[in-house]
Amino acid sequence: MDLGVGNTFLEVDLQKIKANLNRIRDHIGKGCEVMPVLKANAAGMGLEKMGLFMSGECGVNLVAVAQVYEAVKLKEAGVDCEIFVMGGVPYDNVASAVEYGIQMPVFENEFADFVNGEAKKQDKKVKLHIKIETGMNRIGVKPGRALDELVDYIKNLESIEIVGVYTHLVESQAADKSFSHRQHDLFKEALGQLDRKGINPRYIHVCNSAATVWFTEAYYTHVRPGRLVYGMDPNGDEKNKLGLEFPIKWYAFVTNLKRIDAGETVGYNKFFKADRPIRMATLSFGYGDGYNRNLVLKGGHVLIKGKRAPFLDMCMDQSFVDVTAIEDVKLNDRAVLLGRGGKEEISLHDFSAMLGEGYMNAMANIGQRVRRIYKSCHAERSEGS
Ligand SMILES: *Cc1c(COP(=O)(O)O)cnc(C)c1O
Repeated sequence: MDLGVGNTFLEVDLQKIKANLNRIRDHIGKGCEVMPVLKANAAGMGLEKMGLFMSGECGVNLVAVAQVYEAVKLKEAGVDCEIFVMGGVPYDNVASAVEYGIQMPVFENEFADFVNGEAKKQDKKVKLHIKIETGMNRIGVKPGRALDELVDYIKNLESIEIVGVYTHLVESQAADKSFSHRQHDLFKEALGQLDRKGINPRYIHVCNSAATVWFTEAYYTHVRPGRLVYGMDPNGDEKNKLGLEFPIKWYAFVTNLKRIDAGETVGYNKFFKADRPIRMATLSFGYGDGYNRNLVLKGGHVLIKGKRAPFLDMCMDQSFVDVTAIEDVKLNDRAVLLGRGGKEEISLHDFSAMLGEGYMNAMANIGQRVRRIYKSCHAERSEGS
């Protein structure tokens, strides 16, 4: 089956991902490394390809994902760097995690025990990171007695090796940094405790994207950015200080062009009613591709020939836009759903502002059937828009 780029596709510029990684590295300096977060299908860009590219061509030797499922997908795709699962792990995942040598969090004796048992069964050693609870209250063990007890308990489990310690910041993008500093103070307390027990893990990591930009004191051995790698800086105060680039363009095609007379309607339930004659284009994508239909209701648009074409309606697999103001639109012309088209740009920031959601939501929802086309500097394609 060769459908070319299909109905709708994301073009991912790999060199921009690599450049973003390098800008982050320059920013954090020597002695600290980037552990890119590849959750949510690598922010929609394609989990396996991003894993292979970053480990194979960008010198990344440790990546983070949310679930063992994602880690196993990476391993099966041939990614041979270390993989760390950040989130709490249900027991059914443990056997696979052990088999593939995937690193996991630990914060409970009972879980440590279970993992140890599975590792023994498979005659393997498991590498775990202690998750310190500092304010998120999602997963983790608090500094103090609970941490001491966990460490003492794990010391007796011979198939477990503590290789890491980490925590997660809850509002590092906020202008007020005081809670982040409080969390960091608690984390330092935990590090002191571990040190007194003779544990000096080789992976120590605190910073997510926002903190990677500003929280110098909390860099340690690794930073753990997701969005930043994909060119999205969540910091509100100083926009994109590192000069990162968004590597994505999302396209669909014009499949029909027609005139709608005044009084005619468009779409199910006569969704749009023309009050004047308009020229309309039907496009080859819909909310079934993970595009948020609320963008139609909130006055969104696509770019055709570098100009704005406002939505009239959207179905599951096809959409309608007004192209009255755009000259020379032809069948099979490209529509840009996200990214730059000529002088105009539809940015993730626009999506977020219109929908009131974070950057990740829009990216994470982009559907399976949207083809991912990877562009590298050696195989430059013409833009056509
Ligand atoms: C999602 C996540 C990250 C990355 O978040 P960004 O803000 O996109 O950098 C880092 N650490 C943990 C624990 C996460 O869940």
